[in-house]
Amino acid sequence: MTKYTELTAVKELADLTYTMWQMGWDEKNGGNISYLLSEKEVKEFYRDQVPRFIELKNIPSNLIGRYLIITASGSNFRLVKDSIETTVGVIKIKQEGYTIIAGFENNNQPTSEIYMHLLSHSARLEVDPTHRVVVHNHATEISEMTFVHELDDKALTRSLWGMVTECIIVFPDGVGVLPWMVCGNEEIGKATAKKLTNCRIVIWSHHGILATGSSLNDAFGLIETVNKAAKIYMNTFDKRITKGITDKQLLDVCDFFGVTPKKGILN
Ligand SMILES: [Zn+2]
Repeated sequence: MTKYTELTAVKELADLTYTMWQMGWDEKNGGNISYLLSEKEVKEFYRDQVPRFIELKNIPSNLIGRYLIITASGSNFRLVKDSIETTVGVIKIKQEGYTIIAGFENNNQPTSEIYMHLLSHSARLEVDPTHRVVVHNHATEISEMTFVHELDDKALTRSLWGMVTECIIVFPDGVGVLPWMVCGNEEIGKATAKKLTNCRIVIWSHHGILATGSSLNDAFGLIETVNKAAKIYMNTFDKRITKGITDKQLLDVCDFFGVTPKKGILN
């Protein structure tokens, strides 16, 4: 048994917060991450804290009894790795809310986006039993793209696939996009979870991106790939002299790599 700060997942999560800050995607207290622990990981750390119960309504039933590592409300990702005890904690999800069992020292609590994280985990677990992670940040170029591109799932997916040959292999399920919404409330949580029933990435217009995955590396890789494509889009959309990657070429890539692209996007 070890202190929760020594868990591999907690160390990886703290490293990732710093990496994302270095990318310029988590200014001030922007961004939040959560990670569902496996039963094995739950047994690896000891609890020496007095548990703190926090009420929350309408908890998804497939999460009750699960343990979640999650970043704190107001945590600055630049500083997380040097202050894990206050900026990262572990909660046990219950029917009427959740109990903080490790971390969040100095009376801190999970991100204000916690309900969105719970709904997102729940939605992905319904369709993918290997799902574990939700990462949200303010990746710059994909946010920029929501000012100059149509906010439609299919159109945005097609544009991103067309920027880098490997995009369609990395996210054949495409992206979902939400119109501008108030963040942190139940409405954006429900809208995000709905999109996540058929893809792993949701773009929040004029705000940022959320990606899910089977590991922190997996979810972050999706964000890196989408943002790279968005960066190329932003740098070229108004000055192109070639047609870019055609539908036929994308289908050839799918064929070669044995990937099935989301229906209704390529002709
Ligand atoms: Zn945000």
